This record gives sequence, C-alpha cells and structure tokens, in this order.
Amino acid sequence: MDRLIRGYREFMAKRWPEEHAHYAELSKKGQNPDYLVIACSDSRADPATIFGAGPGELFVIRNVAAIVPPYEEGGGYHGTSSAIAFAVLQLNVKYILVMGHAQCGGVAAARNMEAAADTPFLGSWIRLLEPAAEKCHDRDQPDFERETIKLSLERLMTFPFIAERVEAGTLSLVGMRFGIADGKLELLDPASGEFETVPPR
Ligand SMILES: [Zn+2]
Repeated sequence: MDRLIRGYREFMAKRWPEEHAHYAELSKKGQNPDYLVIACSDSRADPATIFGAGPGELFVIRNVAAIVPPYEEGGGYHGTSSAIAFAVLQLNVKYILVMGHAQCGGVAAARNMEAAADTPFLGSWIRLLEPAAEKCHDRDQPDFERETIKLSLERLMTFPFIAERVEAGTLSLVGMRFGIADGKLELLDPASGEFETVPPR
C-alpha cells in the first residue's frame, strides 16, 4: 500500500490546499454533476484523467467493457442499472457518455469466449456483447469496440426514464472511444453512425 499512501500525501500537499474550499462546498451542497460517464474498468482509460475533470464534475460507472445491460425489472443485483437510475433520476445529469477504448480486454474476451472461461461472473457479463459481435463477424477489434459503444447507447434508450428525457430534450447520449496508445479520442456522430476524431487542440 506504500504507493497509495505516498499518493495520498502528495494529494494533501499539492491539491488539497488549492481545492479544499471546493470540497467543503461540495460537502455542504451535495454533488450536482452534469455528466454520467459509463467507462471500462481498464486502468488505462480513466475519464477524470482524460477530461481533466475535478471533484463533483463526473458521476462515473466503470465496469468490464463499459457495458450497459438491457433494462430489466425485478430481482437481481443491478449494479450498473441502479447507478444509471440514480444519476438520471436523482442527480438529473444532462449527458450520458459511454466511453469505450482501444485494446479493450473485455471486448477481446467477447471475441474469444475461452478467455473468460476461468473467471467467475465474466462470461455471462461479456455475453451481453453478443448483438455487437453478430454485426462484426469479419471485422477487427477496433470496429467491435465501436459497435459495443453503439450497443450500450441503444440499450440506454430501453430505460423508459432515459428515453423520456432524451425525447424531451433534457438529456443527451454521447459515444466516445479513447485510443490508449495515441491518445486519440473518437466521437460518435449519431447522424452518420461514424466515429470522428476530436481535434486534440
Ligand atoms: Zn476495456
């Protein structure tokens, strides 16, 4: 744990003096983020780092492959869906960003299910990507990653309270893919269904 304790001390020495007033205000007023980000758990694709976001700005859900499960009522442990519902219904976020990334191990495992065979829970989770896999038989991994982002966005629209807000114009859904090796950020154009590179400056 030494690495983490060292990091905490650095945070208290450098950032806390500048930001403690902001943290104090957030503690009084509560959080009011505009963005829900659904990203992969991958340690290389951290939304707060990529977007230079500070405390209180992003409500983040991270799971294997940035998957939105289908809308389901009834029992079960809906970790991702419950956080989506909280962000939309209680925090009234204005945007939901689904952010996939290059070299995604979860997407790679969905292309080769044997990779997940020895890991409990993982197989049934990444089988949620099957509709994207069906569209990508002969296509490469980057295309599959892009299809999984589109699939998660489509699934978000199956949540009634999301569809309602999107139709009313109070909530926008956005898809992005982050390139780990080159820092390239691709933004999905909903009209064309194509991903366009965001100019880095
Ligand atoms: Zn990933």
